[in-house]
Parts: sequence; C-alpha cells; structure tokens
Amino acid sequence: MRLRRGGAAAEAEPGAVATRAAENLAAAVRIATVTPPDGPLSESDAATFAELRALLEAAYPHVFAAASDAGSLDVVGRAGLLLRLPGASTERPVLLMAHQDVVPVPQDWQAEGWEHPPFDGVIADGRVHGRGTLDDKGALIVLLEALEGLLAEGWTPARDLHLLFGTDEEQHGPSAVAAVELLQERGVEPWLVVDEGGAVATGAFPGLSTPMAAIGASEKGITTVRLVVEGLGGHASTPPRESAPGILAKALVAIEAHPFPAALHPISVEMFEGVAPRLRGPLRAVLRRAGSLSGLLARVLPRVGPELAAMVRTTAAITMLEGSPAQNVLATRAAATVNCRIAVGSSVAETIAHLERVIGDDRVRLEVQEASEPSPVSPTGDDPRWQALVAAVADSYPDAVAVPYVMMAASDARHVARIAPAVYRFSPLLMDKAQREAIHGPNENVSIESLGRGVAFYRALLTGDALGPPAPNR
Ligand SMILES: [Zn+2]
Repeated sequence: MRLRRGGAAAEAEPGAVATRAAENLAAAVRIATVTPPDGPLSESDAATFAELRALLEAAYPHVFAAASDAGSLDVVGRAGLLLRLPGASTERPVLLMAHQDVVPVPQDWQAEGWEHPPFDGVIADGRVHGRGTLDDKGALIVLLEALEGLLAEGWTPARDLHLLFGTDEEQHGPSAVAAVELLQERGVEPWLVVDEGGAVATGAFPGLSTPMAAIGASEKGITTVRLVVEGLGGHASTPPRESAPGILAKALVAIEAHPFPAALHPISVEMFEGVAPRLRGPLRAVLRRAGSLSGLLARVLPRVGPELAAMVRTTAAITMLEGSPAQNVLATRAAATVNCRIAVGSSVAETIAHLERVIGDDRVRLEVQEASEPSPVSPTGDDPRWQALVAAVADSYPDAVAVPYVMMAASDARHVARIAPAVYRFSPLLMDKAQREAIHGPNENVSIESLGRGVAFYRALLTGDALGPPAPNR
C-alpha cells in the first residue's frame, strides 16, 4: 500500500497536491467496499471496511487525531464514520459528507467494456480509473486531503466540523440515518451540509462552452410501488379471456401513456437563468426569460430528452416484472415494480393517487415498498451558505458558472434535511458527459487535475469568511 501524507506537501504546487490525492484515491479504489446487503455486516465486509478505515487513518493522521483526541470518533450504523473536529465555537456547525461504499460491477466486467480492471486503481492518461473514483471516493479523498493539509499547517476550524462517511448510501443509507439520530440526540443542528450530488459538468447544455457547477439545492423524492394482479392459474391450454399478466400489462401501458404533470420548479428557473448569459445560440434568449416562460418550457423540455423530462416532472420507471414460473403454466400472480422519482413540490400521496387514477382498475393492487418525500429546498441567492459555495467554486474552477439544480437521484443528504435547513449536494469534481454516464457503469474515472481542484474547493470553503467565527448577527 503506497500512501502519501496530506500534510507533508501542503504548500507544494497544485500538481503535487493533485498527484498525492490521485495516489490515495487509487489506493482507496483497490479496497472494494461494495455496498453490503441489508442485515448484519458479514465478516468479509467488516474486514473490507476496516481496511479502508485503516487506509484513511494512515493517509490523514491529523484529521483522525483531531477527532479522536476530542473523543469524537463514532462508528455509526454498520461501519459508517462520524467525526467531529472541534472548532473554536460549537455554534453553527458544519457537516461535510461522502460515502465509502460503491456499487458492484458485473462478474463479467470485461464484457461490460471496462478498459482497466474496476478495482485495480489504475493511474493512466492523467486519470484515476476504477469503481468509486467519481461516486464517491473521489469526493471523500479531496475533502480529507484539504482538511489534512490545513490541519498540518496548524489551522483549526472556527466552528465544529462534523464529517460523515456512510457505508450504505447505495442501499438507502442506514448508516447516515443512524448518524442523523446521533447528531439529533447531541443537539447538533448543522448550519451547512455538503454531500455528493452535482458536479462541475461540461457538455451539460447545448451551446454552453464553459463548465457548469451544478449544486443540488433539493432532491426528488422516491417511492417504489409493486403492482400485483392475482389470477386463477391453471393450464396454459385453457387460458381465460383476461390473464393476470394481461391486466398488469394494460396498467403498465397506461402508466407510460399518462406521464405526470410537468412544471418548472423555481430552482430550475434559477439554473436556466444562471447559465443563459454564458450560452450561445437560440437557447440563450429563451432561457434568459425562463421565469416568464416557465409554462412553455415545462411543455417543451420533456420532448428534448429523458434528462430534461425528469427535470420537470415526477417520473415512473417500470423495472421488475414477474409472472408464471413455467412456460405452460398460467400465472396465479403477476407483479411489476415501478420506481417513481417525485418532483420537488409534489408528494408520495400525489404520486400514488396519480398511478391509481391512470390505472383505473381495482384488480391491480398497489403495494408501496418504499416512500421518501422530496427534500426541502435549501436557500440560494444571497444566503451566505450558498454564497460560500459559489465563492469556493470561483476559487477552484474560475471558468465555471455555479447554479442550483434539483438532484434527480437519491443520496444520503435526504436523511439530513430534517435536522439541517441548508443541505447542498455537490462533488467538486469535473465530469464530462462520458464520465457522468460512467457512474454506476463501466469506465468510471476522474482526472488528476480535477482532484487538485477539488482539494482547492474544500480549502476555499473551509477557510472562507462564511465559515469563519459565527457572529451573532449571521
Ligand atoms: Zn453516491
């Protein structure tokens, strides 16, 4: 295991900081911390997460010492880590998050098209390659690099700094839930929370030549619904006029034929108006007036593609199907799973009501398997926390435009929203279209240069005015 200590070269040129981050990230990728299945941690999973923890402790000794010296290093959930770096004040604490777990790769990952083995942590072509480089070990490493460098220079945070590294983000995040309960018990109400989510994206908009730092100010809700139709079964030689799978199929067709109503959320308006001045081409004039054209945009955007469609409405994805167990047996039960992502401004109840209405058949039973409301909207505009993020982006990615957006995937951050009024979802890493598509897919990679900028982002955020000593009037 090759490790580079964060503090040693804190004042070296950015290239050295980025290289050290890349080497530590590569080492972290080699420990395959695949999200463990529900239930108690298996011995081998426990060993894998212990190995990653040992690596982090060795690479970032100042960070872990600051927490353990204060008696503030807790294991939350199964192997989540919750650290508190004591600041000069306990007022207006800050919570920074990243998760340690990664999604699995198929057994036959070569067939999926990986250029480098997913867990080898290969550094090549100015990039670190492997599962987790973007989601979310890259963000974990740049955060720790920034803190380690600052602490090694003798810096101490002005306010308490809480760090949460979950172990099961990709599986509904029970370790984050446990951490939130612990923070709540201790009366900690984070003033600012930053977790994964958006990124510094290139190629995000047609006609936008500069990168867009998309900072999630809210996230869609999620509900998973199982549609079940019971049938009589029997032999395939004497089928009924309507079978259980047939009734189910009509319900599924009805769901796809009747999309949820579209509306442009004010956060999306702010995003469009934010990028408009940087756009070239016909979109510039339209998006400049996104506020007054929001009705029109809500109707037009879904036709452009699935990403924009998901931005303006609740979506329903049909994922799993089951029917008869044999080719000549009628199904006694047919079932489908529908995974819905709920628009900010709507609710679980509205989503279920819409499904029931468009299906319009009480032979189709809806079983709600998971339900999580859309997150509250965190402040943007003049809010000092939003401004602190914008300033840190300007420092680390001077050519990027920072805009808020509604995150469409679900993250650990949603669990924190109930104790924190300002939760932002942002990984300070550069991602082009191919890299964004590689998250949860083959060839996940991050550029070394971007790791250096990510460290610069967290340094700027941590040392900026907004995170300085809390004044009574702030
Ligand atoms: Zn993630």
